[in-house]
Amino acid sequence: MSQPPIGVIGAGTMGQGIAQVLLTSGFDVRQYDIADEQLERARGAIDKGLGKLVAKERLAETDKVAALARLSTSTALEDLAECEVIIEAAPENPDLKERLFRDLSALTPDAILASNTSSLSLTRLAAVSERPERVVGMHFFNPVPVLKLVEVIRAEQTSDATVARVEALAKALGKTAVAVGDSPGFAVNRLLVPMINEAAFLVQEGAATPEAVDEAMKLGAAHPMGPLALGDLIGLDVCLAIMEVLQEGFGDPKYRPCPLLKRMVAAGYLGRKSGRGFHVYDERP
Ligand code: NAD
Repeated sequence: MSQPPIGVIGAGTMGQGIAQVLLTSGFDVRQYDIADEQLERARGAIDKGLGKLVAKERLAETDKVAALARLSTSTALEDLAECEVIIEAAPENPDLKERLFRDLSALTPDAILASNTSSLSLTRLAAVSERPERVVGMHFFNPVPVLKLVEVIRAEQTSDATVARVEALAKALGKTAVAVGDSPGFAVNRLLVPMINEAAFLVQEGAATPEAVDEAMKLGAAHPMGPLALGDLIGLDVCLAIMEVLQEGFGDPKYRPCPLLKRMVAAGYLGRKSGRGFHVYDERP
């Protein structure tokens, strides 16, 4: 008997990447989104992503065709009913994710429900689900086909069997799973985003220019990219939202968002996606 399909909820930046690695790893994928045009855009992006692998001779053309044939898309949640694992990559909105987890757990009695949330509590998502022991975090990093890490986040209610299943899935995708508790920001964002926030303080205080901060961390700490260029890449609005989650989650003033970061977000200077952040970009991606 062939293995059951894996569901992917959301066909945006992360949903596209997650679907692509599932397909190239041999899985059947059912991708759901509320918007048909987004599903079509995702199929196009996956086609392009696989085409690059073919050009680099890392994937045979026949395997590309076979991978795309394993992708089915739908705007009806019921089409994910037979999935064994469902990875949710819908927008970072607690009400929306809670509704999805409630609906999915009613629809799929046995499926593991894994959220790719960057910052929300898995314990809260598990609490609204009908089978909280099957809820877990699978936090992928952007771009998914390139970055090797998956943070596996265990809610208070998550069972050992659920953790073992998603760790095995991460391995089957060629990723390395790192186990992290359900703590605000998990591991990577809790370390990375306060560094970006602190870099913004340096600029606010006039202690260093954005160029100087980034050059210093590239040359002095061997970072491939400076913290402010990285903040621009992630999106300064996303960085601010993560600082707010850390501040609220820990109630510790060390996580206060930098006022300059707040002003830049209010001004619409969001980084690469708006053409201007701590640096200025000629071309939007
Ligand atoms: P995105 O905005 O690019 O894509 C979200 C997709 O969800 C869109 O296609 C949208 O049409 C769809 N959508 C909207 N409402 C929906 C619903 N009710 N049900 C199903 N789909 C719906 O977002 P993204 O950047 O891919 O982020 C998705 C999740 O991944 C978020 O939780 C985010 O925090 C997390 N994440 C993002 C990154 C990143 O770098 N972008 C990294 C790690 C984790």
